[in-house]
Amino acid sequence: VFQLSVPLNFLGSVYRELRQSLLDMETLFNLQKVNVSIKEKEGAKALALPKGGEIKFEDVNFGYYEDRPILRNLSLTIPAGKKVAVVGPSGCGKSTLLRLLFRSYDAQSGRILIDDQDIKDVTLESLRKSIGVVPQDTPLFNDTVELNIRYGNMDAPAEDVFAAAQRAHIHDKIESWPHGYQTKVGERGLMISGGEKQRLAVSRMILKDPPLLFFDEATSALDTHTEQALMSNINEILRGKERTSVFVAHRLRTIYDADLIIVLKEGSLVEQGTHKELLEKGGLYSELWSAQERWGEEEEINAEKKE
Ligand code: ADP
Ligand code: MG
Repeated sequence: VFQLSVPLNFLGSVYRELRQSLLDMETLFNLQKVNVSIKEKEGAKALALPKGGEIKFEDVNFGYYEDRPILRNLSLTIPAGKKVAVVGPSGCGKSTLLRLLFRSYDAQSGRILIDDQDIKDVTLESLRKSIGVVPQDTPLFNDTVELNIRYGNMDAPAEDVFAAAQRAHIHDKIESWPHGYQTKVGERGLMISGGEKQRLAVSRMILKDPPLLFFDEATSALDTHTEQALMSNINEILRGKERTSVFVAHRLRTIYDADLIIVLKEGSLVEQGTHKELLEKGGLYSELWSAQERWGEEEEINAEKKE
């Protein structure tokens, strides 16, 4: 017994270390461009969520380069437990906002608070554990499909992995691949489409089940039908869980039912409200909405022509 326990403990610690490095890799690929200058404050405490995950930006200024501001005096509140959408023209800073929340970068001035704690004062591990991101483009590991989903939660039983994939509308697809869940993906494996990648990333998020969920145009590579089906599953998962979820969305049809829609332009908040309120207001959101309505009709007409 004694002889066995040593190697087993040893393996256990290797496994734990490996798992840690995988979490770090998740961080890495969620953010793609990780800034190594991000440091944890000495004596940082773990993030606590007594309010259930309220997010506040207070007068935040940020630019990737000093002479080119991206977020300008940005103040906003994302209420706890709500579904919030962030919309606005391409390049207005939506992805940047999420990157700051994850602390891939720090703001040059202003504060970002989660349940009244400055994110600079909490441990990086607790911050990043509390957040799940489905990034705009999900790089995959050169590993099996199963492991790629498991990076969300290494200890999950296999049934949970399958259930997560089912809810992300990718289970049947996976089963159709040459080795099912053991199929290798990534650079050296099966080539998979952008939409499949997105659904694997959503599976990973469902398995991780974090209190704060960020989706960065997470369904943009899907056709309208699959997108709607996946969004309705995501909504179902969120319902009754009181999870704060932030959807950066290009197609407004996927987020019009959000509790709050925040509209950015050139890194500043220009308007916010519900879909109905914003349409009545007749501002930027309503312009974007009517432009997309027109495209939507064209899409449908084109689809009919093809049939
Ligand atoms: P959105 O997601 O709203 O389309 P982003 O937040 O990705 O916009 O980008 C906002 C601006 O910041 C854009 O002008 C973009 O070119 C620039 N930008 C984004 N990422 C980087 C980066 N890593 N380095 C330098 N500039 C960047
Ligand atoms: Mg973006």
